[in-house]
Amino acid sequence: MRARDMIAAGTPVIELTIGEHDIRTDPRILDEMHRRAKAGHTGYASVPGTKALRDAVAARVTARTGVPTTRDNVVVTPGGQAGLFAAHTAVLDPGDTGLFIDPYYTTYPGTVRGVGAKPRAIKARPRHGFQPQAADIAAQADGARSLLINSPNNPTGVVYTPETMQSIARTCADHDLWLVSDEVYDTQIWNGTHLSAWQLEETRNRTLVVNSMSKSFAMTGSRIGWILGPEHVIAHLIDLSTHTTYGVPGYIQDAALFALQAGEQLEADIAAPFRRRRAMAVELLAHTNAAKSAPCDGAMYLMLDIRATGLSGEGFANRLLDQERIAVMPGESFGEAAAGHVRVAMTVADEMFAEALGRIIHFAEALTPRGP
Ligand code: PMP
Repeated sequence: MRARDMIAAGTPVIELTIGEHDIRTDPRILDEMHRRAKAGHTGYASVPGTKALRDAVAARVTARTGVPTTRDNVVVTPGGQAGLFAAHTAVLDPGDTGLFIDPYYTTYPGTVRGVGAKPRAIKARPRHGFQPQAADIAAQADGARSLLINSPNNPTGVVYTPETMQSIARTCADHDLWLVSDEVYDTQIWNGTHLSAWQLEETRNRTLVVNSMSKSFAMTGSRIGWILGPEHVIAHLIDLSTHTTYGVPGYIQDAALFALQAGEQLEADIAAPFRRRRAMAVELLAHTNAAKSAPCDGAMYLMLDIRATGLSGEGFANRLLDQERIAVMPGESFGEAAAGHVRVAMTVADEMFAEALGRIIHFAEALTPRGP
């Protein structure tokens, strides 16, 4: 916020707080949107999503997960956030408790509260590489009905290991929890394997996966995504759409269909800048102890541990802004577990990113007492 005021007042600030690509939606996708709107797909569109789009999503999920999936497992939503809200509406009643993992994407507690339920945070700790631990979930599971997870993770950039995913599934089965899995960054994997919650057979009948075109196709403003789940839950969610959003504009659905069918190169091109910058960051951070990154295996963020400087994440972010004119997010703004960290979004051009990260490292080093 303070950074935005400074920018508005004309002070040049390098903004590393924004979770959005530095490119716009591909013109080919926009051309299709325009073409389909001109062709008349501007009336009420199919509320669950067009058959063609739901089929394309199902085919994509089948190809990527190996799990046979049909359009009856898919409902189209106006973006991932609407999907998160709808998913929690489906699995929680007012007064229930919904679990989520801290550090968390900022909307999570409000999303649970929004359906009249009580959010309860479970810490994923830096010493575990921010991987949630089954024992911590189990310890908080009493009286809860759902667990919300996110991998690849915003804000940490961590990808849950297959072992973590399996232990989460086991815990959800043991404690009778619905699993809501936010996988909006699933095309941004830099290292290791991403196991979708949909692949966890034991819990598939109690799982809802939320996904979106926002991050994978740089379509943040188009507001389109989907929920994947058991047929009977999807049927309820379609009912919910009828009574809330009444669907997503037809020409946006057509543009999403076009994007999904455009081939993997388009997606790879959209992910490529983050892959490059993440490689640059690994290189730059290899030579310092003052700022250490959490394993940055996915998504468009680095979570830097700056505890060696003796500052809080907030103290560090404020001083960095004042002295270096670089804006990052304090870890504390994503929950208690990320205290003493700052989140760096890799969402500016390569040269500027490398310069800014270099300056952040020098700044952290200057604050860090030297060892003996
Ligand atoms: N989940 C996570 C983890 C996110 O970072 C975001 C967007 N920043 C969303 C969901 C929502 O994305 P959208 O509604 O644009 O699909």
